[in-house]
Amino acid sequence: TDFGYQQVRAEEKARKVAAVFHSVADRYDVMNDLMSLGVHRLWKRYTIELAGVRRGQPVLDLAGGTGDLAGRFARMVGPEGEVVLADINASMLRNGRERMLDKGLAGNLRFAQVNAECLPFPDNHFDLVTIAFGLRNVTDKAAALRSMYRVLKPGGRLLVLEFSRPVVPGLKPIYDLYSFTALPLMGKLVTGDAASYRYLAESIRMHPDQSTLKSMMEEAGFERTEFYNLSGGIVAVHRGYKF
Ligand code: SAM
Repeated sequence: TDFGYQQVRAEEKARKVAAVFHSVADRYDVMNDLMSLGVHRLWKRYTIELAGVRRGQPVLDLAGGTGDLAGRFARMVGPEGEVVLADINASMLRNGRERMLDKGLAGNLRFAQVNAECLPFPDNHFDLVTIAFGLRNVTDKAAALRSMYRVLKPGGRLLVLEFSRPVVPGLKPIYDLYSFTALPLMGKLVTGDAASYRYLAESIRMHPDQSTLKSMMEEAGFERTEFYNLSGGIVAVHRGYKF
């Protein structure tokens, strides 16, 4: 049946995503800097500024990986706040945990191995949920967005930082060339794993564009949704509120 076929495709995707992040976990941070020429730091800084986190707030950083966002939030919410760094992948989570401990960030940080599609947190709990470069790896994005909505407090907000569609004329061909040739090549040279970086380029191309993601957030219940294009739309930050 059609459903059976979709089920198989979904399991295949989940398996592929797991294999990719187990494979790249140890080189993840180096590769991020290399592949984005360091610009991922600016994209994340912009997202953190938009988040407007305050002291004492509970925050969930989903698909948090090695903790670039969670670490910053842990400092911002202070000892009376709480940050959960959640990721489905044990290798990424282990590296994230070690990195956070090395930075002396542990007191208000918790680590959780979770699937974004079915979050094991109570309803109405977090003031902020972030997911940076994570949503495109999630198989059932609609379920994940509903789950994020559920765990947010009324008045809380979701920020999605993700690759999107270049909107500057002439940028797309250069970007396609870069992502389909340079990326896998760098991946192969640095990690010996070209396939994982080919997956990366494919997953970027398959991901919904700015307005589609905005509609998906609205379908999950989010209000006052808007997005900001960064680097000509190579990346976008979407924000939505739960009221
Ligand atoms: N947020 C970090 C950053 O911006 O550097 C890590 C992003 S990394 C590209 C994507 C992460 O999403 C991986 O650590 C992967 O394990 C995680 N991930 C993939 N599918 C997931 C899911 N269904 N639920 C939670 N995390 C998931």
